[in-house]
Amino acid sequence: MASTGGGSEKVSVQVVIRVKPLTAHDLENLPTRFQRQIITTSPYATNQIVVEGEKRQVFSFDNVFPPETTQEEIYDKSVENLVAKFIEGFNVTILAYGQTSSGKTHTMGTADNPSIPLDSKGIIPRAMATLFSTINSIHQSKTDHRKCTIKVSFIEIHNEDLIDLLGEGDEEGRPSVQIREDSKGNIYWSGLQEIKVNNVDEVINYLAIGSQHRQVGATDMNEKSSRSHAIFSVTMTQQKLNTNATSPMSPTFSRPGTPSSRSISRAPSRANSVMSSRFDDIGEWVTITSKFHFVDLAGSERLKRTAASGDRAKEGIAINSGLLALGNVISALGDPNKARHTTHIPYRDSKLTRLLQDSLGGNAKTLLIACVSPAEYNVNETVNTLKYANRARNIKNSAVVNQEEMGWNDVGHLQSLVIKLRQENNALK
Ligand code: ADP
Ligand code: MG
Repeated sequence: MASTGGGSEKVSVQVVIRVKPLTAHDLENLPTRFQRQIITTSPYATNQIVVEGEKRQVFSFDNVFPPETTQEEIYDKSVENLVAKFIEGFNVTILAYGQTSSGKTHTMGTADNPSIPLDSKGIIPRAMATLFSTINSIHQSKTDHRKCTIKVSFIEIHNEDLIDLLGEGDEEGRPSVQIREDSKGNIYWSGLQEIKVNNVDEVINYLAIGSQHRQVGATDMNEKSSRSHAIFSVTMTQQKLNTNATSPMSPTFSRPGTPSSRSISRAPSRANSVMSSRFDDIGEWVTITSKFHFVDLAGSERLKRTAASGDRAKEGIAINSGLLALGNVISALGDPNKARHTTHIPYRDSKLTRLLQDSLGGNAKTLLIACVSPAEYNVNETVNTLKYANRARNIKNSAVVNQEEMGWNDVGHLQSLVIKLRQENNALK
């Protein structure tokens, strides 16, 4: 692979905590004697969280957001820089983890729709606003000749089944989504709708359509508790001229590249768009492909809390196995002793970890947002969440810009390049 850009950046997975405020619904539903708030944060130690349970426990993270934190602050402090990295060409993944009702979907904006008030908008619509305003200024610029294309897809993992939330027709009629690996070991998904989008409104429409399709069912804990993982993915393709030439020409493709609207296959994760280009003296057209995953994980609570039975219980167990696999991957990656040796990382234990293989300890910038309730009633789940999140802090990702020179896989292009270089070489002699 001709991955030429950027070099590799070794970074830890960023882990932040968001403490939810007690809502009117919580005050109605939690037993009064357990509504006491057992979490303390301090403006003087913004990376610490103290849980006053049976014993006092202190945890530290990259950032701890207290209950009064706005959606805008979360975005500005933890997400905006990642959107900039995404536009540079890095893969980025944000995961929301926590028990049901802790604020994962609210934080991520996975269920946002066009009529949601500006203040309440979650991470996805805010990231899309930044992305499209950047793209608009790139396209309007007289000096920046990049051409950017954005595609979205929306998938759900429910009982280890992959469901395309943007698939057409009823569930049975849709093609099944498969996780595949290309010859270079990159993960990609086939049979999935990837839809080209031109502005934020279009993205939010697809988000709303997809989240209507999400599996929801009733349990004692939360009538809309989701037992599935939802992954909203954005793929950005940038074509740019890799030179300081003053009068670049448009790339000319000898065959049509990616279809311009709905396509049924997903581009592999790293630089791998095989496109031929006419070779011009002024430089090479390169393609940069980057992927942004927004992952709204299923509730992390223990099954017994939800009084689940029958099918519901089966769902509950399946979810726990996905999160369990994620926890095992996190442990294997995060243990500094293990990391020094080449340890087996159990990505294949679940669909979730297989899909996120590139994003955990792989080629991505990753942010884990762990959401917790402040109420004494949830203290055990809160401590479990904080311990789980703490393990993720040790993971080291190695992220590179996914850049590939166009025509690199095109023998005809390479032959004409060799001829041209020989001529230049002779002329120099
Ligand atoms: P989860 O996705 O973790 O199950 P939700 O995001 O659906 O939880 O949140 C549960 C409820 O709490 C929703 O009604 C949501 O609007 C509300 N909520 C969550 N976080 C906040 C917050 N930071 N401020 C106000 N309300 C919130
Ligand atoms: Mg949710």
